[in-house]
Amino acid sequence: MHNFYHHKSFSYVIALILFFSILIPSTSNANGDEVMASVSSLHIRSGPGLAYPILSSVKKEERMNVLERQGDWLKVSKGQATGWVASWYTKPIESQKSITQMVVSKVDRLNVRSQASLESSVLTQLSAGDQATVIKDHGQWVEISFNQIKGFVTKEYITVSNESSSPPPSSDTTSANFQVAVDILNVRSKPDLTSKRVSQVKKGERYIILEKRNNWVNIELSKKESGWVYSFYGTLTNQPTSPKNIESKKETNKDVTILYNGTNLRGKPSTSSEVIYRANAGETFKTVGQSDDWFELQINDGKKAFVASWVVSTKNSSKNNIEKEVVRKKGTLNGLTIVIDPGHGGNDSGTSGARGTDEKGITLQTSELLSSKLRSAGANVIMTRDSDVYVDLRKRVAIGHQVAADAFISVHYDATDSSAINGFTTYYMHNYQKGLAKSVHESLGKKITLRDRGTQPGNYLVLRENRQQAILIELGFLSNPTEERAVTTEKFREQASLGIYNGVVNYFDNQRN
Ligand SMILES: [Zn+2]
Repeated sequence: MHNFYHHKSFSYVIALILFFSILIPSTSNANGDEVMASVSSLHIRSGPGLAYPILSSVKKEERMNVLERQGDWLKVSKGQATGWVASWYTKPIESQKSITQMVVSKVDRLNVRSQASLESSVLTQLSAGDQATVIKDHGQWVEISFNQIKGFVTKEYITVSNESSSPPPSSDTTSANFQVAVDILNVRSKPDLTSKRVSQVKKGERYIILEKRNNWVNIELSKKESGWVYSFYGTLTNQPTSPKNIESKKETNKDVTILYNGTNLRGKPSTSSEVIYRANAGETFKTVGQSDDWFELQINDGKKAFVASWVVSTKNSSKNNIEKEVVRKKGTLNGLTIVIDPGHGGNDSGTSGARGTDEKGITLQTSELLSSKLRSAGANVIMTRDSDVYVDLRKRVAIGHQVAADAFISVHYDATDSSAINGFTTYYMHNYQKGLAKSVHESLGKKITLRDRGTQPGNYLVLRENRQQAILIELGFLSNPTEERAVTTEKFREQASLGIYNGVVNYFDNQRN
């Protein structure tokens, strides 16, 4: 018996050595390489072959880090997700170390952190349109330099731009227009990053070029206004300026509608400033300006006042409609805006488990996985928080209204007095939210093994006050020690986010007809 076992384990060792000697050379070669998708939609699969299930997909020219190679298949990481792609649909990215890369923030108040982690301290914040220089790429994070401060930002909220990707403007006059290539771009008073911001322009908009100076172009915002933009954030084109151009000029004159009774309109754009007027839900005002998160309004007696942008809705529905007319293929979420709402945060820890889990931590982790899946399918995803901060429930709803979200998904974990109760539940409040709830719940049930408590109406503020397709998912009970152990694993979060993701895709696929 002894010999037999000895013999068997010996051959096992040989097999292992053979296995690794085949694997190691290609692994070490591939490790650290970057590739990009060479087709319009490249599937990331759970294993190295076409028969494996599709986890997500990437768009043409999206970059992935190569972790491993097996035959014609590459194991790649993209954000937090890993999986396998067919190498024949990828192309290598040549080293661009000598080229300055810039990033532009897509959002306001983007945290620049001391380390590549959501737990690390915040050094400063970027506003939408702020530009920073890339120091080093760290996968999901980028180390940047901004106003002499070096720190890390997550890639989800920035546009990365290669200076080489667009030819520098020359003195010829053949290209008369500038088309914006990043989500939001600051327009400045002088051809200089430190000069005053006069306006912002958006992706796809085209403007007449009045003048070129070094790497800057002076664009015509209106007959009276012009400003400077950094030329690498757009392309120079001969195509006429777009109609959306006109649309966006109207933005300073858009209407805002007050969402809540007793909303304070203030003398200055700050919550500590004096209240000039109290407005009620439904009152509408013309905007005359914008200062970060605040709108400056014209109020009735010729006075002006400021209102926080998160307590109003903006009536630029015609513009939203234009943006949403993007042709969407089955299985993709192109053109859709989805708000993910990780429950609780900051002082509000949510429920805590029998074994000490804080709900606020795992709601954020689950939401991040979900967001990256939705983004890889083409959705524009906005998270109501991306760190351990307190966000008011009304503000969460207002974010959904502000971006005219196609779906609003609040992620929670449950608790109750009885430690015996278990299972997952999907809540909706209004009838128009029922369809999304059913679709997500059904797909979720196929991916997780918790007891199915069904879809139910639930009187939660984030659903009740939400005009969008809003649902709230409770992913199991932390008050049940067995369930707490099951739902606090990385594997569970992966399965749960995949289930929710599938449900969202199915829901919108069925809306197409
Ligand atoms: Zn909760």
